[in-house]
Amino acid sequence: MNHLEAYWRRFVNRADTYCVQQPPPDKYRRVRRALTLEDLAAHVAGEKTLALDCMNPEGEARWVCWDSDVVDGLADLARVQAAAMDLGLVTYREASRRGGHLWLWCDAPQPVAALHRLGKAVMHLADIKLEVYPNRDDPPRDVAQGMRLPLGIHQHSGQRYPFVDGAGRPCHRDDPESALAWLVAQPHTITSQLQAALATVPLLPPPRAPVSPSPLVVTPTPSLGGAAVTKGIIGWIRAQSFPDIVARTRSDVALMHVGRGYSGWCPLHDDAAPQADGTPGTRSLYIYCDPVYGWRWKCLSSNCGASQRPVKDAFDWLVWLSGGQWNVALRWAEALREESR
Ligand SMILES: [Zn+2]
Repeated sequence: MNHLEAYWRRFVNRADTYCVQQPPPDKYRRVRRALTLEDLAAHVAGEKTLALDCMNPEGEARWVCWDSDVVDGLADLARVQAAAMDLGLVTYREASRRGGHLWLWCDAPQPVAALHRLGKAVMHLADIKLEVYPNRDDPPRDVAQGMRLPLGIHQHSGQRYPFVDGAGRPCHRDDPESALAWLVAQPHTITSQLQAALATVPLLPPPRAPVSPSPLVVTPTPSLGGAAVTKGIIGWIRAQSFPDIVARTRSDVALMHVGRGYSGWCPLHDDAAPQADGTPGTRSLYIYCDPVYGWRWKCLSSNCGASQRPVKDAFDWLVWLSGGQWNVALRWAEALREESR
């Protein structure tokens, strides 16, 4: 993979639309056309300046970006960076015309519910309030907020801004090739690190009330005998074909028939990565339909939190993908039911 392709993998959440920064006093113009590698090359070369959507239409994103617009914003971002580091997350500070950006890069697209929650939780730990992108925890209706890509030329100052180290010194030379080579060589965060961080951050108050005005009726699962009896949205999601739900929520799992169940790539840890001995990763998510209890899933890798008992059902799937946030999972389930109507 060349540097430009690696840059694409790091930043492009969707390639059917993007924004172009305009000379002052205008800001950005949205383009409804396919993004190409040539567009990214032109951005890095300083021929035009792109901003890319902070999530795709399915509500997934490859990065988190904290944005500070104030004059000493880089100092604020250093505090957020330190809080992220306490959670085991490596982030990168980019200078800008005023303030700057702090980036966290993921190895694979992640649900925005988890990334947005993590972004806010890190600021909570740093006791600081900035803009964070993805800036919402559910998919956009059309397009999402764009973020200016690093390494280009800011159209309002005519300057290119570097990534900076803890002392504020540039991390790379200022020619585009060196900057790009430096950027794509920086490690990204793997899914299991995100999961570990999400498991330790404090639960914040829910971002807003559930969309459904009617109270949810949830009957506890009986401890003995019979299928789980739940009404309302949780009952609905448990009654669906779980392979369909997996395909609709995380298509990258890519389920395949195996024996009496299905296997796929686990979205909760990095099972696609090569093993320590260099052998290829293996698909470790396993789902099956229990004749009494219905659809169940688990991860077969002992490296993964989802390998622990108890076995999990379709609603648990949404909870895990939402970083443990029940309210987010409930809204997600409502959205899935809405789509099915
Ligand atoms: Zn797993």
